[in-house]
Amino acid sequence: MSPIVGPTVLVVEDDSGMRDVLARGLRRDGFEVITAADGHAAMAVTKRPDAIVLDIGLPDSDGRDLCLALRARGVDAPIIFVTARGNSVDRLSGFAAGGDDYLTKPFELAELVARLRAMLRRGRLTTADAAPDRALRVDAPTHQLMCGSQTVRLPPTEYRLLAHLLAASGTVVRRADLRAVGWPAGAMVSDNTLDQFIAKLRRRLTQVGSDEAIRVVRGVGYVLR
Ligand code: CA
Repeated sequence: MSPIVGPTVLVVEDDSGMRDVLARGLRRDGFEVITAADGHAAMAVTKRPDAIVLDIGLPDSDGRDLCLALRARGVDAPIIFVTARGNSVDRLSGFAAGGDDYLTKPFELAELVARLRAMLRRGRLTTADAAPDRALRVDAPTHQLMCGSQTVRLPPTEYRLLAHLLAASGTVVRRADLRAVGWPAGAMVSDNTLDQFIAKLRRRLTQVGSDEAIRVVRGVGYVLR
């Protein structure tokens, strides 16, 4: 008699004690669990999880940058961020980065399981046309933009804007959404500033020899394709 295989959860957490507790607890609740201790390990996971538990404070990456990189490569599983209490990270920036839910440490395992089950029930609008074999990729720990063998390291804001455009997989991204992902909540970002960043990103794309370009959709935003 083979056991019923539950949904697969990827747990990205650098604290080994916490990681073990989560993995054991989730397995006991019927989940399949894959663990990763940092951003590099998470980027290397090949199995597509059904849900992701993502610590924001990783030794090599900001969890939100990792979320953007996973979304940019077509990972559309719901993501729940966990962060330490007292951390000044604002909730909004987690959602702007493509997260679906948010828990502050310490939390009860039962609470995490309830949130995971709710997210899995809701499912999400899958980006069926996401191209997994797309030439352009971003890496969270290094903030690199890659196209074939060409790489360029991006400053944080450029990384976040480009990763978000990539994650949209050919659909239009509103200017307000780019502001939310590139800058802290409440920051005043003029149209001119955003335009300057888009101009920089266009040069980066040329630099790595990308076929894709950022196009303006007048009155709406931008699209990368
Ligand atoms: Ca941590």
